[in-house]
Amino acid sequence: MHEMGIAEQLVQIAMDAIPKDMDDPRVKILNLRIGKLASVVEHSLTFCFEIITKDTPLENVRLVIESVPVKIHCKSCHKEWETDSPMFKCPDCKEGEVEMISGREIEITSMELADD
Ligand SMILES: [Zn+2]
Repeated sequence: MHEMGIAEQLVQIAMDAIPKDMDDPRVKILNLRIGKLASVVEHSLTFCFEIITKDTPLENVRLVIESVPVKIHCKSCHKEWETDSPMFKCPDCKEGEVEMISGREIEITSMELADD
């Protein structure tokens, strides 16, 4: 289950982002962007978070996940398009070299701390 490694990294980043001078900080919400090709299973990630955030400021954090579409760019004709399939072929010039410009990211966009 590779979600465990991802969860560990995200927790580490979130922990580093908590202001050091806060007393008993609590993170309520973690906003994430996850690409459709990142192969992250949402409920697995949530499950991993529950395990590794126990007794940390992120305990019971709510994950708000924004799914990022897969975007492809054709290097030959510079067309850009979105797709759901991993079949990458330019619909215009039918050849050319294509590259993925989004769809694999796993990142924290923001987090909300409890203010009580
Ligand atoms: Zn093209």
